[in-house]
Amino acid sequence: MRINVADIKLEAGSHKRFDLTASLEPVELGGQEFLFEQPFTGEAEVWNAGDRLLVKVELSGEARLQCSRCLTQYTEPMEISFEEEFVAGAPGEGQTEEDEEDESGRTVSFYEGDEIDLTEPIRENILLELPMKPLCDEDCQGLCPTCGVNLNEAECKCEAVAESVDPRLAKLKDLLGKPDSNS
Ligand SMILES: [Zn+2]
Ligand SMILES: [Zn+2]
Repeated sequence: MRINVADIKLEAGSHKRFDLTASLEPVELGGQEFLFEQPFTGEAEVWNAGDRLLVKVELSGEARLQCSRCLTQYTEPMEISFEEEFVAGAPGEGQTEEDEEDESGRTVSFYEGDEIDLTEPIRENILLELPMKPLCDEDCQGLCPTCGVNLNEAECKCEAVAESVDPRLAKLKDLLGKPDSNS
């Protein structure tokens, strides 16, 4: 995912818009796998701010997630938006290509030649948006811990069976349900 900034990197104040299409490899995070079946699409805008290029990226797409309660796969729409500053040149000795701080303490990235590679910033920003505990629905009923049935799709008899197994428990429940019966 590269954009060519050859014609704006030389002139302070110049601005350009790019259409973006970003395909992402599946990601494994926290024991879960996230799939991106469709590429993310959107745009990048670049401004020449004199000593650096400001890049603003807006993308939308969707992720294929697995619900952490019922384990069903579902698709969730995603939107990401971020800004990043790039300066020409290579990182110095002992510095990494990203997370480099300039004199004013802002984080800048580097680019070399005429192209800025947005692959990593896009990937990182999409990962930041992924839910740690995906839920197909806020009210997802999950799986029955006894028989494993998906309680969103079917009811199971587990609770009824548990009650009939021990009639004393059922009786106790009755008593607890009528606290005023003896007074
Ligand atoms: Zn679910
Ligand atoms: Zn069950």
